[in-house]
Amino acid sequence: MFTVFCPRHGTRVLLSERRVRAVHNTADGIVVEIECHDGARILTVTGRALDGSAADRATSARRAIAAVRRAPHTVPPDVGHASVS
Ligand SMILES: [Zn+2]
Repeated sequence: MFTVFCPRHGTRVLLSERRVRAVHNTADGIVVEIECHDGARILTVTGRALDGSAADRATSARRAIAAVRRAPHTVPPDVGHASVS
């Protein structure tokens, strides 16, 4: 199960692994693309990005998501993202 912030719901939602649409392994962490029940596509970061201080985690998460977004064949442009907490 994943707890992620959904921009359409405007709150955190609990989603099962069945909602995972793609997994991207980057140098800064694993980016999981999840589809919410309302259709919102959310990127969240896990794995190596969760090591270190809060500032390190935030930086790693931003870099991991940026790396995935630079690969336009993997993520449509309208996919949102969730911050790591
Ligand atoms: Zn939602």
